Amino acid sequence: MEQQKIDILSLLPEQLEAEIKAMGAPKFRAKQIFRQMHEKRVFDFTKMTELSKQFQCELNERFYINMPNIEKRLASDVDDTVKYLYRLSDGSCIETVRMVYRHGITACISTQVGCKMGCRFCASAPLGFVRNLTPAEMLGQIYGADAGFPEEERISGVVLMGIGEPLDNYDNVMQFLRLLSCKEGRNLSLRHVALSTCGVVPQIRRLAEEQLPLTLSVSLHAATDEKRDALMPVNRRYPLDELLEACGEYFRKTGRRVTFEYAVIAGENDTPEAAKELGKRLKPVFPNYRPHVNLIPVNPVAGTGFRAGRAAAFRKLLEQEGINATVRRTLGDDIKAACGQLRRDTIESN
Ligand code: SAH
Repeated sequence: MEQQKIDILSLLPEQLEAEIKAMGAPKFRAKQIFRQMHEKRVFDFTKMTELSKQFQCELNERFYINMPNIEKRLASDVDDTVKYLYRLSDGSCIETVRMVYRHGITACISTQVGCKMGCRFCASAPLGFVRNLTPAEMLGQIYGADAGFPEEERISGVVLMGIGEPLDNYDNVMQFLRLLSCKEGRNLSLRHVALSTCGVVPQIRRLAEEQLPLTLSVSLHAATDEKRDALMPVNRRYPLDELLEACGEYFRKTGRRVTFEYAVIAGENDTPEAAKELGKRLKPVFPNYRPHVNLIPVNPVAGTGFRAGRAAAFRKLLEQEGINATVRRTLGDDIKAACGQLRRDTIESN
């Protein structure tokens, strides 16, 4: 059974070394295997030709390589965005988006199959939660989205903004970040990683203790508890006061300001009053700094009834309130690059 084997692609170099040692093999074998997977991107023991046939067989008995399979690959005609639908070993589907920016190439990866958080505007919420992704399944999304591109076009930034709530899969996400940034592996600095959360307060506090250089993004979408309760059920558990207090603590402990995401929804949260409320709430969070808000015109998801608000106009309102705001460029419109839509179509057409 695969389940009883060890998920080797989720192991850090020192963990792999301990496993290889336990098999009675020399230490350098662990280095070779790690290099084959993470540098050469070989995901089949029988293709690791520097290992003897006998050792390949032993590895096969003890470990499995949990690399997601690319089921669909959609390349945009309007920009260089590529969207991937991955099929996992249990048949579940997840999505990844590869986005090309002036300063590099960013992968937007999923952290769970489905999500428990139930945000009203989200394409994944109505489909419910299936399971957490393993570190290998997160890393595999990046390796898959690198495949076929030359070395210099490899992914240089990662955002945890695909399907799922990363702080609801805390331990696996942390292990994934360690793997992604370890020098023997992908060696990607966590300065180029952003983790987005809907506001799971205790886990924000826990993350602050880790002192990682990543960017924490909080999905705000509303500046009063009444509005936020209606859009995001998580707010009933962790209301705005507690959430923003945790953001302040994150800043004090890590020295890094949290950024805020705000999906602009016509008539819901794009009014002058909403801008004023946001200003009042956000300004005290990081004393001496202007808060930064990323505005995203909401992606209309079937069944939600929400329409995109005018992000540029709302940006001006926020500037008047002393808040810096940028309007997120929409990429890959023609390939449903917006999160969750491809998986949803796939599930609903089955
Ligand atoms: N669970 C995490 C990360 C995944 S969602 C979080 O909530 O932050 C990534 C971002 O996309 C979040 O800011 C989320 O609120 C936003 N989002 C979800 N559905 C959207 C939609 N239909 N239109 C615009 N943004 C959306």
